[in-house]
Amino acid sequence: MNDQFGRTITYLRLSLTERCTLKCAYCRAGEGECPKKSELSGEEFLRIVRAFTAVGIKKVRLTGGEPMLRRDLLDIISGIRAIDAIEEIVITTNGQHLAGMCAQLKQVGLNRLNISLDSLKPERYAEITGGGSLEKVLSGIDEALAAGFQPIKINAVLLRGQNDDEIDDFIALTKDQPINVRFIEYMPLSATDRTDLRVTGEEILRAHPALQPVEPAYAGQPSRDYQMPGHKGRVGLINPVSHRFCADCNRVRVMSDGMLRPCLGSNEEYSLKEALESGDDAVLIETIRAAIRQKPETHCFDSGFLTGKNMSHIGG
Ligand code: SAM
Repeated sequence: MNDQFGRTITYLRLSLTERCTLKCAYCRAGEGECPKKSELSGEEFLRIVRAFTAVGIKKVRLTGGEPMLRRDLLDIISGIRAIDAIEEIVITTNGQHLAGMCAQLKQVGLNRLNISLDSLKPERYAEITGGGSLEKVLSGIDEALAAGFQPIKINAVLLRGQNDDEIDDFIALTKDQPINVRFIEYMPLSATDRTDLRVTGEEILRAHPALQPVEPAYAGQPSRDYQMPGHKGRVGLINPVSHRFCADCNRVRVMSDGMLRPCLGSNEEYSLKEALESGDDAVLIETIRAAIRQKPETHCFDSGFLTGKNMSHIGG
């Protein structure tokens, strides 16, 4: 269905859990140990996805928190795969639990993987993530490629002074393998907006004039894509603040507590919990329709927006 600004909403992001193995400051600042609030069950998530197909959702991304912490992850994926209207199921993961899982993920019907990776230096990676293992992520990437997940998308949030000296090393990953690296601009999705951390796409392009623009892989994609001549993979620039793409936004989010957030950069939310408890899918679908109609025209990242929830809760 279309929202009030004529955007067709086809893409649902499900944050399966707030829990995460990592503690990246820009993602879950101010939070202590991972919260263990009550999460929707796998069956509730499947009811939600089925209801969303009634309004035209075709693509589902599983995220979090860390979606691979859900014990019922494979059941959730195969349940979504059984829903005819869903054409694509993708996951965003920190890669810490990927090795040993890729064949099963492929078998139950996962289409693609995005892996978050903010540094290629083991000690720095551990520092940014609060103890993560780079080795585990790299083995996960190798296994995913071998299992036929191609291309793999690597998401790196660039943080000025922390990892922006690694841009060339990330671009080198695109040389021989079907790996697309996407540089994501820091968004104010924790307690304060650290604008000083933000590295814009324009800065990257100025410093890397050899990057050649290429056609988007699909319509409405958030990244502007480039390629180094002769490289297999792409370099994507995702700049929600300095180069906003709200006019093409086709997505909404449902969090693990059953709250629906039509826009990442707005604190407006709608509860699906009562509709779920009513047992009446028509009520669920009407609640979803009402929320999509109210999707804000644009985010408020550059007008003093402070999020009510961290990214680890909303689902990146
Ligand atoms: N745990 C999974 C992972 O690490 O990929 C999925 C959830 S995580 C919230 C999804 C993505 O959001 C990650 O790529 C992360 O780097 C990104 N992210 C989190 N906070 C962000 C922020 N403040 N600005 C930009 N991206 C952010």
